[in-house]
Amino acid sequence: MTTNDTTTTTTVADEHVHVEDVPTGLLIGGSWRPATGGRTIAVQDPSTGAVLAEVADATPEDGIAALDAAVAAQDAWAATAPRERSDVLRRTFDLVHEHTDDLAALMTLEMGKPLAESRGEVVYGAEFLRWFSEEAVRIGGDYRTNPEGTGRGIVLKRPVGPVYAITPWNFPLAMATRKIAPALAAGCTVVIKPADLTPLTTLFLAELFRRAGLPDGVLNVVTSSDAKELSAPIIADRRLRKLTFTGSTPVGSALLKQAADNVLRTSMELGGNAPLLVFDDADLDTAVTSAMQAKFRNVGEACTAANRFFVQDGIADAFLAALTAKVEALRIGRGSEDGTTIGPLIDGRAVDKAAALVDDAVERGARLVVGGERVDRQGTFYGPTVLDDVQPGSDILTTEIFGPVVAITRFHTEDEGIRLANDTEYGLVAYAYTSDFARGQRLAERLETGMLGLNTGVVSNAAFPFGGVKASGIGREGSHEGIEEYLETVYVLTPDPFAR
Ligand code: NAP
Repeated sequence: MTTNDTTTTTTVADEHVHVEDVPTGLLIGGSWRPATGGRTIAVQDPSTGAVLAEVADATPEDGIAALDAAVAAQDAWAATAPRERSDVLRRTFDLVHEHTDDLAALMTLEMGKPLAESRGEVVYGAEFLRWFSEEAVRIGGDYRTNPEGTGRGIVLKRPVGPVYAITPWNFPLAMATRKIAPALAAGCTVVIKPADLTPLTTLFLAELFRRAGLPDGVLNVVTSSDAKELSAPIIADRRLRKLTFTGSTPVGSALLKQAADNVLRTSMELGGNAPLLVFDDADLDTAVTSAMQAKFRNVGEACTAANRFFVQDGIADAFLAALTAKVEALRIGRGSEDGTTIGPLIDGRAVDKAAALVDDAVERGARLVVGGERVDRQGTFYGPTVLDDVQPGSDILTTEIFGPVVAITRFHTEDEGIRLANDTEYGLVAYAYTSDFARGQRLAERLETGMLGLNTGVVSNAAFPFGGVKASGIGREGSHEGIEEYLETVYVLTPDPFAR
């Protein structure tokens, strides 16, 4: 890969994987450049603590320079033919696939997940590029006669304008493509700020967009050690038209308040506290296999991770035994080592949080079935854990665990299961296992959730609307609904063309 400034690239590697020419600068107006003043942020491997790279630490002035570039590019990008925007996205999709090994290695090194999961994220993340390359050419409109018959209305869609996107560290590629792809398809320009813990994947992705022929200034990337200081002036700038955020609910809520001052369009993909319900009539193998995916994907560091397991009395013992056997077979290691299924947590605070939640649950009467310990090795690891009989009032039932911990509560009736599942301020995703289709339909209508995995453990798919209700957010990403988040509706009224 060739960037236009070799002072802003580096090689990122460990003894198993190796990626050359990874951008480390800020992408502003089509050029990679160091931060003003030259400050950098160290990016670490959570499995060893080793510094992988130093990336630019943008000042607030750099952030505004990125917005300047997005604003300057906006009109020309909005005026491009939809097919042109579609083709750039499609070429980037192809380049992402060509660079699967590089992107997977970067994600594993900076975030810690096993290589096989990082490859899975490349496939998932790339799908947003393909999906929205297809949506770019299908932006619709409407033509109506008014009810009085005296006029005609034309309803058209226009890009909302320059977008500021803020993404988290847990899915460094997919969270970026899920925002960039629909924004570009709609004709919006973008400034994106990835998390400072995992910026390398997004920087590499941005270089692939450049190589795919994206015009200068259409996508700008800023990395910073002070997200608040960098973001506040961008969000307050009247030229910005949209804020899209994926991250925790408290930060999302604070950003919504800032966005209100500027009456910005917002999309908020926030935290979760997913219930996983296993009913007596569930297929045991399906429930256990799916529960393992719903819980342990990304070491439990997913907004969609099953957080609270509710298991009906009649199947509880069999489910617990089968699940525990699978948990005991998980293999802890560095993500880049063969056979690893459980990598490190993102940092020491994440380990402390998982440990505190488990200790609190046990003190309040839960039974520790397996795990419950930090792993005695270099890096930030916590052992896969299963708790049974978690008691009401335990912190683990109200907190996003973001770690490899199963917390089981038993229930008796369908009504009780639904009541327990809905007893949270969150509403991102729920999982349920039952062989009774009518029960599945009742759950779909009664669970307070944006998404329901029925007899499956993964709901993420570019073709479907991803998003939550309640404190889990506002808006949807993916599907044909995802592009609407970046479009304004404009209505034109004309007189009756037959009236002379
Ligand atoms: P976070 O602390 O809220 O950070 C998310 C992003 O916001 C990061 O880029 C962060 O920058 C930035 N940020 C933090 N404080 C900010 C501020 N005051 N102003 C502007 N930006 C700010 O969340 P996280 O720990 O990275 O991610 C985990 C959370 O994300 C979990 O709650 C998870 O459920 C949620 N999540 C939700 C979805 C979804 O689709 N609903 C998907 C994935 C994750 P720095 O990291 O550089 O400080």
